[in-house]
Amino acid sequence: MRGSMALAGRKQKKKETVDFANILVKRCPECFINLPLDAKECFSCHTRVGRVDKFGRARKKPNWIAYILCIISWVSLIAYINWAFLN
Ligand SMILES: [Zn+2]
Repeated sequence: MRGSMALAGRKQKKKETVDFANILVKRCPECFINLPLDAKECFSCHTRVGRVDKFGRARKKPNWIAYILCIISWVSLIAYINWAFLN
């Protein structure tokens, strides 16, 4: 009884150290540059980054304004191409 409890505790602790022992930096999800673990924003592409995941990659924070601007710019580009070349 006492032995199995101690074993379970040791197992859990070992898993934690395996997951985070080798992670000293996180990678930007946009440009894959290495960032400090406590970085809130990529200094290269200015993407807002979240916490590091177990693969050493920063989680991307959803940026709805950027999504909408991207869609608008694509729609206007396609509209412009239609107007300029297919008229
Ligand atoms: Zn970046």
